[in-house]
Amino acid sequence: MKFKLILSVILISILLHSCTESKKETSDVTEVIEVQNEFDYVAEQFADIKILRYQIPGFDQLSLQQKKYVYYLTQAGLAGRDIIYDQNYRYNLIIRRALENVYQNYQGDKNNEDWNNFETYLKQIWFANGIHHHYSSGKFKPKFSQDYLNGLLSETDTKLNGEAYEVIFNDAESKKVNLNSETGLIKGSAINFYGSNITVKDVDDYYSKFEVDKKTPIELGLNSKLLKENGILKEKVWKSGGMYGASIDKIIYWLDKAKKVSENKEQTKGLELLIKYYKTGDLKVWDEYNIVWAKSTDGDIDYINGFIEVYNDPKGYKGSYESVVQIKDFDMSKKMAALANNAQWFEDNSTLMEEHKKKNVVGVTYNTINVAGEAGDSSPSTPIGVNLPNNNWIREQHGSKSVSLGNIIEAYNNASGSGRFAEFAYNDEEIEYEEKYGQTADKLHTALHEVIGHASGQINEGVGTPKESLKNYKSTLEEARADLVGLYYAPDEKLVEIGISPDAKGIGKATFDGYIRNGLMVQLIRLNLGDDIEEAHMRNRQLVAAWALEKGENDKVIEKVTKDGKTYFVINDYDQLRVLFGDLLREIQRIKSEGDFEAGKALVENYGVIVDQDIHKEVLERNSKFKSAAYSGFINPVLVPLTNENGEIIDITVIQPESFAIQMLEYAKQYTTLPNEN
Ligand SMILES: [Zn+2]
Repeated sequence: MKFKLILSVILISILLHSCTESKKETSDVTEVIEVQNEFDYVAEQFADIKILRYQIPGFDQLSLQQKKYVYYLTQAGLAGRDIIYDQNYRYNLIIRRALENVYQNYQGDKNNEDWNNFETYLKQIWFANGIHHHYSSGKFKPKFSQDYLNGLLSETDTKLNGEAYEVIFNDAESKKVNLNSETGLIKGSAINFYGSNITVKDVDDYYSKFEVDKKTPIELGLNSKLLKENGILKEKVWKSGGMYGASIDKIIYWLDKAKKVSENKEQTKGLELLIKYYKTGDLKVWDEYNIVWAKSTDGDIDYINGFIEVYNDPKGYKGSYESVVQIKDFDMSKKMAALANNAQWFEDNSTLMEEHKKKNVVGVTYNTINVAGEAGDSSPSTPIGVNLPNNNWIREQHGSKSVSLGNIIEAYNNASGSGRFAEFAYNDEEIEYEEKYGQTADKLHTALHEVIGHASGQINEGVGTPKESLKNYKSTLEEARADLVGLYYAPDEKLVEIGISPDAKGIGKATFDGYIRNGLMVQLIRLNLGDDIEEAHMRNRQLVAAWALEKGENDKVIEKVTKDGKTYFVINDYDQLRVLFGDLLREIQRIKSEGDFEAGKALVENYGVIVDQDIHKEVLERNSKFKSAAYSGFINPVLVPLTNENGEIIDITVIQPESFAIQMLEYAKQYTTLPNEN
C-alpha cells in the first residue's frame, strides 16, 4: 500500500498520522517572494504539473560501501523504467521514442505555440509514464494539429504510423484504468495487462481455477500478462527469458552488484531471493523474499523493487513496476531516539493528573526515511509514505514496514516558498522566526507528537478503549492530545539539554505562531465556503487553537487584530499560552482516561467543527493569489560515481539534473532496455 499526495494541497498528516504539514501547507508558483532555502525546490511547471527537486540528506554520512549499495540499487530501479511505459499502454514506448526523436532533432522554428504545445505533450507523457494522465487516467489531448505533428515527423525522419499514431488524436483507448463495469473493466481500460481479446469472464475463469493455499496464498497473477492464443488462456510471465526479460536481466545485473556490497546478511539473503524471483517468476519465491525483506530492518539503507501495487489493474491482479531507494533519516532518528530515551521524564513532567500518568512509558517508534532514487510507477509522481509488503498473511505473520518519505515531504513543503505563510503572519518578527526555526520546529513537533504524544497517558481501570468510549470523537481527541504534548514541550529547555533543539524560545515561538496561524486561518484554504470541518486532524487543530483563544481572551493571550483590513491572530503572551496548552492537555487526557464521552463531544463540537464564515471568506480571498499546479512530481538527484584508473569506484557524488527534459532524455539514452513492442 502506498500513500500519495493527491492534489498539491498537502494531506500528509491526514494520511500519515503526523503533523509535518502544520504550517506550510502550500505549494506554489516560483515567482512568489523569496524561497526560504537556497536550494531551488521548484524545477518547472507545465499543464497541471509542477516538477520539484529533492535533496538526499545523510548521503555524505554513508561509507563508500553504503554509497555503492545505494548507487547499485538506484541503477536496478532505473533499469526497469521502460517496463512501466509498456505496462501502462502497449504503444507508450513507440510513441515516447518517436516524440523524443523529434524533440532532439527538429531544427525548425521553436518560437511558437505549436512547438510549446508539442513540448508540453511530451512532458505530460514523461510525467505519466505514458499517454494517459497519471491520476485521472484520461488520455491527453494534444493541443497541436495532426498536420503540425506530420511536419515534425517528416522533417526529423521519424517513423510513427498505424494505430500508435492514430491513437494520439482519436477517441480510442481514452482511459488507462476504467472502473466502470458498464463500459467494461478490461475492454474499457487501455492498460496492457491483458490481451486485446480478453474478457472479464476470461480473467475470472482463469484465476478461479488455481488451487491456492488458503493460509498462505500467493499474490496470484501479480507478474504476468494474460493472453488468449487459439482460444487458450495463458500467462506471459514477467521474468528473465520471459516478457520484459531484457529489462529484468538488467535489473538482475544491478541487484547482483548491490548484493555484494550490502550492509548485512539479511539484506544479502533478501537480494538473493529477489534475483531468484526475477529469474524464475515464481510467486512463492516472491513471498519468501518479502518475508526476509519485512524483517530486514537493521541497515541504514532499504529499497523497494518489483511488481507491487495493483491499482492500475481494474481486476486487481497485476503489479506495476516500481522502485524506491531509501536512506535512514539520521537527523530525525536522532531526535526520536533522544525523545524515546527520555520518555519517562516527559511523562513525569507533563501537566497530566498524577493518576493518568504512565509509570513505565515507552516511546513510540516512527520511521522517517529519505529517498535516494525513484523509478517506475513511483516516479516522477511519488508516494509520500509506503507500507509493505501487500500480501496480508505475510503482514500478519511476519510484520510489515511502514515509512514516510521525509525529504519528499520536505520538498513539497518548501516548494511553496514563503509567500503564503508571510501573507498570514502578523509582522516581520513572526516571519523571521518562521524562516529561522520553522523547519526544525516542525520536525520537533512531529517527533514529540509521535514518540511522546501518542505513547503518553493511561486509561483508568474498567474504562473501555477510546474507540468504545469516545466513539466518533476518538480520532480528533487523540490527535489533539498528541499535538498538545508537542506544543507543551516545544519551548522546553529539556529539548536543548538533550541536544535536539537549538533554542527553546525560538522553537517555542515558531511552533506556537505557526499552530495558531494554521488552526485559526490557513488550514481553511482546504475547505469550500460554507463547509464544516470534518477531517480529524483539521478538527483537532481548530479545537486547540480556538479553545486557547477563548480561554485567554480576558488576558489577551492571543489577540485578534485587524491591520490594513486584514485579520491576524497575534500571540501576546507565550508563557501563558503554554499554560493553557497544558490545561487542555490535562483535560483531554482526563476525557480519554475516564471515557467521558459528553465532555469530549462538547469540546469537538464547540471548538473543532464550525467555521467562522467571515474569516473563511477572507482567508480564501487572501489565498487566491497563490496559484498552484494541481499535481507535483520529482526529478531525481543524479548519483555520479568517481572511478580511479582501474575503474574502481572511489566515491559517489550527488548532483541535481539540469532540467526535467534533460533527465528524461538521459534516462531514455541510458535505460532503453525494451523493444517498442513486447
Ligand atoms: Zn497522530
